[in-house]
Amino acid sequence: MNFKKYKQGTASVWAGELKLFHEGSSTVPIVNTVTYAYKDLDEWYDVARGKKEGHIYSRNTNPTVAVLEEKIRHLEQAEAATSFSTGMAAISNTLFALLKPGDRVVSIKDSYGGTSKLFLEFLPKLNIEVELCETENHEQLEMEIRKGCDLVYLESPTNPTLKIIDLKRIASAAQKAGAVVVADNTFASPINQNPIALGVDLVIHSATKFLGGHSDTLCGLVCGKKELVQKIFDYREITGATLHPETAYNVIRGMKTLELRVLRQNENAMAVARFLDQHPKVSQVYYPGLESHTGHEIAKKQMRGFGGVLSFELEGGYENVKTLLHNMKFIHLAASLGSVSTLAGPPRTTSHVELSEKQRKQLGISESLVRYSVGIENSEDLIEDLNQALELI
Ligand SMILES: *Cc1c(COP(=O)(O)O)cnc(C)c1O
Repeated sequence: MNFKKYKQGTASVWAGELKLFHEGSSTVPIVNTVTYAYKDLDEWYDVARGKKEGHIYSRNTNPTVAVLEEKIRHLEQAEAATSFSTGMAAISNTLFALLKPGDRVVSIKDSYGGTSKLFLEFLPKLNIEVELCETENHEQLEMEIRKGCDLVYLESPTNPTLKIIDLKRIASAAQKAGAVVVADNTFASPINQNPIALGVDLVIHSATKFLGGHSDTLCGLVCGKKELVQKIFDYREITGATLHPETAYNVIRGMKTLELRVLRQNENAMAVARFLDQHPKVSQVYYPGLESHTGHEIAKKQMRGFGGVLSFELEGGYENVKTLLHNMKFIHLAASLGSVSTLAGPPRTTSHVELSEKQRKQLGISESLVRYSVGIENSEDLIEDLNQALELI
């Protein structure tokens, strides 16, 4: 069946699950095996040589994991997909598989904290040059790409201030320079944005976030051009950052409700952002759905919804952040995002704790910034909770 003609809610449920599983099982079986037995040596040899479909060893491929890879492939309209134990494994394996000493990477200053660390520390050690541009400065990005580069790495919306990059515009500049374009689509989720349709070669997800959706599973996914995904898969076979089948099952189950959850989170985030935007104790709200957001026009063009994450700055300093967050009644003060439950925290403690205070300052992450990832609760309750805590400041 070709899922292109089916909408995303249908593909989330059915992609990868069209053949009947063992004994007609109506859920995806968790195939907890390391190895796969063959009665015929010739058949085993053909599978091992990739001439015939099948599995040999679960560090490489596994039937449960393959269902998950098929789901993301359909949702992102990609040629091929592969999976990893975590989002950072997906990102680091992708970069290390595609880059070599002497190469040049162009990216943005606002990429995820762990990714930033790869750019600032790990890649330079391998004599790979990394140029990090001001995130919303498209002219600077285009200029650095024109100077010559091998890989362009993008994220939109970004963490934690939800900056927006025109993916089509930068992908087109990268194509002209002959560079591979990679986009981390974690914050948007495939329900809100499909970077491949905008010209990106490879899409990465920390499936730990919206795809899994329940804060109970770490997972990373990469999908896109077949020959690039093959290179990344070959590298992962050896580095061994493999996804476990039980974990894959959790993400598969989470993905069945992906569209329901994300549509609700889009609505909740918009309602919370509008509430905070008019509150006198809030000096700034960062949410691409707000007309006042610097990236709103681009976001409207390339996204179907604005996502479930927002951030805001409080009047005053870190003391006020403490008062607000310590008085929230039910949400969790925790790292991560994209869960059914609302999670909030200061980026200085969560996503950007790996960076020094000086590096954070350079990224424009103020001490009074709060990241707020909405869950699927009722927005009236979320707003009421924020309201009573803001009154205590
Ligand atoms: C969380 C996150 C990652 C890292 O994912 P892990 O699964 O925690 O390794 C990468 N990129 C973005 C945008 C993230 O939010």
